Amino acid sequence: MEKSNGQTQFSFEILPPLKGQHIQSIFDNIDPLMEFNPPFIDVTYHREEYVYKEVENGLLKKQVVKKRPGTVGICAAIQNKYSVDAIPHILCGGFTKEDTENFLVDLDFLDIDNVMALRGDAVKSETYFKPEKEGHAYAGELVAQISDLNRGRYLDDELQNSSSTNFCIGVAAYPEKHMEAPSLESDIQFLKKKIDNGANYIVTQMFFDNKKYFDFVNKCQCAGITVPIIPGLKPIATKKQLNLIPHRFHVDLPEELIIEVVKCKDNKQVRQVGVEWCIAQSKELQKAGIPVLHYYSMGKSDNIKTIASEVF
Ligand SMILES: Cc1cc2nc3c(=O)[nH]c(=O)nc-3n(C[C@H](O)[C@H](O)[C@H](O)COP(=O)(O)OP(=O)(O)OC[C@H]3O[C@@H](n4cnc5c(N)ncnc54)[C@H](O)[C@@H]3O)c2cc1C
Repeated sequence: MEKSNGQTQFSFEILPPLKGQHIQSIFDNIDPLMEFNPPFIDVTYHREEYVYKEVENGLLKKQVVKKRPGTVGICAAIQNKYSVDAIPHILCGGFTKEDTENFLVDLDFLDIDNVMALRGDAVKSETYFKPEKEGHAYAGELVAQISDLNRGRYLDDELQNSSSTNFCIGVAAYPEKHMEAPSLESDIQFLKKKIDNGANYIVTQMFFDNKKYFDFVNKCQCAGITVPIIPGLKPIATKKQLNLIPHRFHVDLPEELIIEVVKCKDNKQVRQVGVEWCIAQSKELQKAGIPVLHYYSMGKSDNIKTIASEVF
C-alpha cells in the first residue's frame, strides 16, 4: 500500500478447494487475475464442522470434519509460484493459544509475514461462538498475541534468545455493523482496540452501497482509527443471492440493485447486472483515492476478471 504511489491496487480473496480437489483448481482461478498485478492474495481459513453419520440401530455418530483444509499450504504455493504475498486468515475459533503460536511459527518459517486475524463464526451446529478453553474469545486478543510474537514474546516466557516475527496484521470490520454488536459505535470501539493491539490495516465486509463505506470510514476516523480501511467488494451473480447475502453476511442490498436483479430472466443476466454494479462501485472508490480494492472471488475468477479489466 505504501508503494502504491496514489494508484489504486487490485487484490482478491480465494477459498481453499473442498477436500479431495487438486490445488490446480486454485491456480486456474488465480492465473487469469495475475495480469492485474495484485500486491497480495488472501486465503480464507475454514474451521472444523460437526457432522452426524447414521450408524447401526439408527444411532448417530458425531464426526469432526474439515471440508476446506490447506490454507497454509496454498499460501506457500502461491508465494512460490507467483512471487506475490499470500495472506492466510487465522481464527480464534478452534485454536488454543498454543495452536496459534505453532501456526504462526510455521508461517514465519515459510516466509509468510502477513496474516488476517479473525475471530471466526460459531460452528454450524451452534448458535454462539465458543472459544477454546485455552483460546481467544475475540480477534483483538489474537492480534495481541501476534504482536507479542513480533516482539519476540512467546507463551513460554522462559524461552531464551527467542527470535521475533515480522507479521503485518489485518483485521475485519463491518460498515453495516457486525451482527452481534449492539451498535455500530460499540463495534467501532472494539475495532479501535484491535488497532491499538497492533493491527496494521482493516478489510471490510462486502457492501453494495458506497455511502455506507464512506460513512463508516468517517466514523472510524472520528474514533481515532487512522490505518487504511480496504473495501471488500463482491459482484452479485445469482438471483438466490438477493436473500442469501443478507442472511449470511448481514448486509443490505440497495433497492435499485434489487429491482435490476429481479428484472433478470436468468442468472446470465444477473451476472451482468452484478458486474456492472461492482464496476460502478469500484470506479467511485478508485476516484476517492482508496489504496486497494479487495474482491471476494468465492473461487470464481471470470466475473472478477471482467471487473478488473474495466477498473485497473
Ligand atoms: C474481511 C473478512 C474476512 C473473513 N475471513 C474469514 C475466514 O477466513 N474464515 C472465517 O471463518 N471467517 C471469516 N470471516 C468472518 C468472521 O470470522 C466473522 O464475521 C466473525 O463473526 C467475526 O470476526 P471478527 O474478527 O470481526 O471478530 P471480533 O473483532 O472479535 O468481533 C466479534 C464481535 O465481538 C465484538 N467484540 C470484539 N471485541 C470485544 C470485546 N473485547 N468484548 C466484547 N465484545 C467484543 C465485536 O463488536 C463483534 O460484534 C471474515 C470476515 C471478514 C470481514
